Amino acid sequence: MVGLSVATALLESKPGLRVLVLEKEEILGKHASGRNSGVIHAGFYYSPDSLKARFCRDGSKELKRLCRKESIPVLECGKVVVAQSEDEEMRLETLFERGRSNGVDLEIFPAEKLPKFEPLARTYRRFLWSPTTAIADTHEVINAMRMRLERIGGEVRTGSEIQLSLSGGEVHLSSSQYSFGHFVNAAGTHSDRIGKQVGVAEEYAMIPFMGRYNAVSSKNLPLRTLVYPVPHPINPFLGVHFTLTVDGKVKIGPTAIPVFGREQYSLLKGWSIVDVLEAFRGVRSIAIGSSHDFSKIVLSEWPKLSSRNIVKQSARLVPMALEVSGWTKRPPGIRSQLVHLPTGTLEQDFVVRKHLNTTHILNAVSPGWTSSIPFGRYVAEEFVIPQIS
Ligand SMILES: Cc1cc2nc3c(=O)[nH]c(=O)nc-3n(C[C@H](O)[C@H](O)[C@H](O)COP(=O)(O)OP(=O)(O)OC[C@H]3O[C@@H](n4cnc5c(N)ncnc54)[C@H](O)[C@@H]3O)c2cc1C
Repeated sequence: MVGLSVATALLESKPGLRVLVLEKEEILGKHASGRNSGVIHAGFYYSPDSLKARFCRDGSKELKRLCRKESIPVLECGKVVVAQSEDEEMRLETLFERGRSNGVDLEIFPAEKLPKFEPLARTYRRFLWSPTTAIADTHEVINAMRMRLERIGGEVRTGSEIQLSLSGGEVHLSSSQYSFGHFVNAAGTHSDRIGKQVGVAEEYAMIPFMGRYNAVSSKNLPLRTLVYPVPHPINPFLGVHFTLTVDGKVKIGPTAIPVFGREQYSLLKGWSIVDVLEAFRGVRSIAIGSSHDFSKIVLSEWPKLSSRNIVKQSARLVPMALEVSGWTKRPPGIRSQLVHLPTGTLEQDFVVRKHLNTTHILNAVSPGWTSSIPFGRYVAEEFVIPQIS
């Protein structure tokens, strides 16, 4: 999504430019962009001065506009964020303030009003209502983005894995027939690795977390809206939640289980010793730093390898989940998280670096899918166009 968005923004700004998107897989959307929850986030979780806050708020509107234009169904179901304790209830206030200062439409209501929005959910005293949170099918959106790019003259080549090399103070594509004026690295979970090939992102390590989902037909669990917990302030993820799909399913997930490979979609396949060593560097720096309690994240996440435990935990938000049978596993996604080694902190915002005639998008974490259109425009306008003009 992010690569397609940068490419489109470049061509919209400079028609006639030759823009090529190279994808290592045979299809687009095989990784994060095609394996996420499909939630068009409203933009109230993020600190108002962050790139995430700005791009998510604007990206949500732009993504919905794209869907309307391309006749892609959008489920305008909204979202409730429910509290489990007094502490969480207090933190609803922070989310509300953040959202409001970011210009996002939000309300806080007393618990008695919850049945009007979502009769199956439970909360402690109050809940947050986000009317603009919505759902779309990720693959339909990716295809629309690709068509939009191709219509204005961009080209996409799949099955084209690239590596970078540095020689004579210049960046080249190794063993490839392509040369370039400017190269944008939008390789998702592999972006820091590609950056390191030319001396960028040395101060970072990547830790992959597996996001698992379970799903059931919405006939068995007729939720009207998305149901989310209050996220913990030091955890970069939002917590296991209930989402809907445009084709009539209810999903719970994603988990955030640390794994041993950037493409490890099952327990035994996809792990790599290089990724293990890299993740270990990240974990070690987190352990030395004081910003996150990594062992707490691990201890709370590992039990979620069991589908029964995921359902059990999520029943705190929607008790009826426990009574429902027929939960099936859905394809997981990998949510890679960049760790800043000198400080041992998990990078919370998008990170972009320029180096010679290359730009590297290093931390396109959630809500990168929602944010992709303005994020791509930002990368094109702030990093690429000034160099090629
Ligand atoms: C489980 C999960 C749930 C999420 N839920 C949401 C959500 O509900 N809403 C939301 O807004 N965001 C969500 N996100 C985040 C969102 O999916 C990402 O922020 C976004 O998809 C990142 O897009 P990307 O283009 O940077 O990465 P990707 O989609 O991973 O794309 C990078 C591409 O680069 C290719 N590539 C890698 N290396 C090379 C190479 N050497 N040569 C050529 N190609 C290469 C890969 O094959 C891949 O297709 C979620 C993520 C996950 C994993």
